[in-house]
Amino acid sequence: MTFIRRDHPLAAELKTAVAAVREAGQLCRAVQAEIDPGALAKQDRSPVTVADFGSQALICRALRDAFPNDPIIGEEDAAVLREPAQADMMERVIEHVGKLRPTSDAGQVCDWIDLGGAKEYSPRFWTLDPIDGTKGFLRGGQYAIALALVLDGQVAAAVLGCPNLGPTLDADRAEGSLFTALKGGGTWEMPLAAHGDAIPVKVSPQADPSLIRFCESVEAAHSSHGDAARIADRLAIKAQPARLDSQAKYALVARGEAEAYLRLPRDQVYREKIWDHAAGLLVVTEAGGRVTDINGLDLDFSLGYRLEKNRGVVATNTPVHDDVLDAIKTLGIGES
Ligand code: AMP
Ligand code: MG
Repeated sequence: MTFIRRDHPLAAELKTAVAAVREAGQLCRAVQAEIDPGALAKQDRSPVTVADFGSQALICRALRDAFPNDPIIGEEDAAVLREPAQADMMERVIEHVGKLRPTSDAGQVCDWIDLGGAKEYSPRFWTLDPIDGTKGFLRGGQYAIALALVLDGQVAAAVLGCPNLGPTLDADRAEGSLFTALKGGGTWEMPLAAHGDAIPVKVSPQADPSLIRFCESVEAAHSSHGDAARIADRLAIKAQPARLDSQAKYALVARGEAEAYLRLPRDQVYREKIWDHAAGLLVVTEAGGRVTDINGLDLDFSLGYRLEKNRGVVATNTPVHDDVLDAIKTLGIGES
């Protein structure tokens, strides 16, 4: 079975996005393979910086080639990289990008990165997180390359590359996993770094909230673990939460390995970034799931690079969605 129907109006967009995410995945894997195991202890974040810039350069180049007029709202820009003090970093980025795109020089690579510098809403734009889950990348855990096309404020196409995700969270697959979704076209899963069959992905049918498993951030600073535990108590959930970095959490919900992904605000101020959720949202909804904020509102992608009108995120298999929202409301989560 194929994950792109040739006659789909966004077939060309999805094909380009898949090739771009695969290329960026190769770069991220190459950078991760070089991480000296002591780097984490030394708090050396440079590998993730190299991979972040390199991944954004490759993906923006590919999008510009295929769709030169499309704005890209990406997480990075090259201002820091252009500083003379960053010459070593620049060299490492060029070395890695150059392995895949041999003609690249510093100016060109920075220009590619800056293609992702759009901040404002437009009726057609891409949003990119070149490496989502930077902590996971450094730990050798889960991270994702997340790319989505937003048309008239709705996510229309999504590609989510998860280089360290196997067929289940606990099983190894050296090639990683790739998820694609087109609005109205379903969600598909396939190997990231190898050719292989695409399989359709469906959420879990579980309707009893006490029997669900949910997932959440490893980082307690990104989502309140305490509030999630109160929800689990309230719904009499027995299973321990799966904690993992990045939008791989959306992938787990999409393929039925978890029934919910809870992202519960730590404060009143933080606003979620669109590149942290756009691709994951479509991967879940096209697999039959539902995604809202903690108040049950749809995520609004028409307001620029932040989800200004939303608080937190709740992604579920659908049958348990209202149970989770009710628990959040009853417990007063997010109110202070
Ligand atoms: P995760 O891997 O799910 O923990 O999410 C990683 C993302 O969390 C990063 O890409 C950041 O954009 C985002 N982030 C940073 N600070 C916060 C915060 N205070 N609350 C929620 N998300 C955050
Ligand atoms: Mg991110």
